[in-house]
Amino acid sequence: MTHEVVIIGTGPAGLTAAIYAARASLNPVIYAGMLPGGQLTTTTEVENFPGFEHGIMGPKMMADMTAQAERFGTKVVYETITKVDFSKRPFTLWIDKTEIKAKTVVIATGATAKTLGLPDEAKLMGRGLSTCATCDGFFYRNKVVAVSGGGDSAMEEANYLSKLCSQVYLIHRRSEFRASQIMVDRVKNNPKIKIMTPWTVEKPVADASGLTGIIVKNLETGDSTELKVDGLFMAIGHKPNSDLFLPWVDVDSHGYIKTTVHTATKTPGLFAAGDIADPTFKQAITAAGMGCQAAIQAQKFLEEHEEQ
Ligand SMILES: Cc1cc2nc3c(=O)[nH]c(=O)nc-3n(C[C@H](O)[C@H](O)[C@H](O)COP(=O)(O)OP(=O)(O)OC[C@H]3O[C@@H](n4cnc5c(N)ncnc54)[C@H](O)[C@@H]3O)c2cc1C
Repeated sequence: MTHEVVIIGTGPAGLTAAIYAARASLNPVIYAGMLPGGQLTTTTEVENFPGFEHGIMGPKMMADMTAQAERFGTKVVYETITKVDFSKRPFTLWIDKTEIKAKTVVIATGATAKTLGLPDEAKLMGRGLSTCATCDGFFYRNKVVAVSGGGDSAMEEANYLSKLCSQVYLIHRRSEFRASQIMVDRVKNNPKIKIMTPWTVEKPVADASGLTGIIVKNLETGDSTELKVDGLFMAIGHKPNSDLFLPWVDVDSHGYIKTTVHTATKTPGLFAAGDIADPTFKQAITAAGMGCQAAIQAQKFLEEHEEQ
C-alpha cells in the first residue's frame, strides 16, 4: 500500500500537519520516533501557546494534540524511521527492514538542544535548567539567572533575559566570543549582564524545589565558586535531526533543512516543517504553523500530480 502522506515526527509540526492532512481525507500515517510528542514532553508549563489562558503542561498539550490528530483518522505509529530513499516517487522509508511507501512526506523531526551534560541535568530541566529563554524566561522575572555559551544565541538569550531578570551572568569557557561583534557589544554595554570568562559551569546546586545555584570554575586560575542563581540557560546551540535526509534536502551550515516556498524542499513532494527547518524561531506555535503549511502543500502537490 502506498500512503498519500507520511509524516515523520509527532511534535507540534508533525501533529499539526497530521490534523490538516487527516481532515483533507489523506489518511496520514505519522511516526513518533524516540520522543513521542516531541520536545514539549520534556517541559512543564507552556504559557505562550495561544488558546490556553492559564497555560498547559507540555506533556498534556502533546497528548491532546495526538488525540486530536487521531480523532480525524491519523494513524500514529510508535516507531523510528531508520532509512529513506526519496530518489523517486513513490518515496520509500524503512523501519529497520519494514518498507513503507509514500506519495508525499513531511519531515518534522525537530532539532535537539545541546546541553552541558551536567550532573542531574535531566532531573533539573524545567526546575532551574533550560535551553530556551523565550520559552522559560518569564518564569524567572526579577530573579538571578546565568546563561552559558559564547555564540550569537547566547548573546541573544542574555539580552532577552536582562529585560526580565534582576541580574544575568554570561558564562563562557573562552576569553573570546564566537558571536558577532555587534551582539557582543550589546551584551558588554548592558549593565544587567555580568560577563564571566574564561569560566565554565561545573555542576548545579539544588534543593527539593529545584536549582539554587551553580558551581563555576575559572579556567585560568582553577578557582571554583558557587554562584547563587535561580536559573541556568544553556545556549550552546541545537542539532537539527536532518542526517537521515541529507541527499534529498539542502541544509545550512548547522544542518537545518533549507526550504523554498512554504516548507517545500528541493525534492518535489518532500516537505520540511518545524524546528528542523527553522534556525530562527524554534517555538511550538511556529512549528505548528509550518506543519499546517506542509500538509496543505502536500495536498496541493497530490492534486497537481493527479495522484489522489
Ligand atoms: C524544555 C523545552 C521547553 C520548551 N518550552 C517551550 C514553550 O514554552 N513554548 C514554545 O513555544 N516552545 C517551547 N519549546 C520549543 C518547542 O518545544 C519546539 O519549538 C517544538 O517542539 C518544535 O516542534 P517540532 O514539531 O518541530 O519538533 P519536536 O517537538 O522536536 O519533535 C520532533 C519529533 O520528531 C521525532 N523524530 C525524530 N527523528 C525521527 C525519526 N527518525 N523517525 C521518527 N520520528 C522521529 C521525535 O521523536 C519527535 O516526536 C521548548 C523546548 C524545550 C526543549
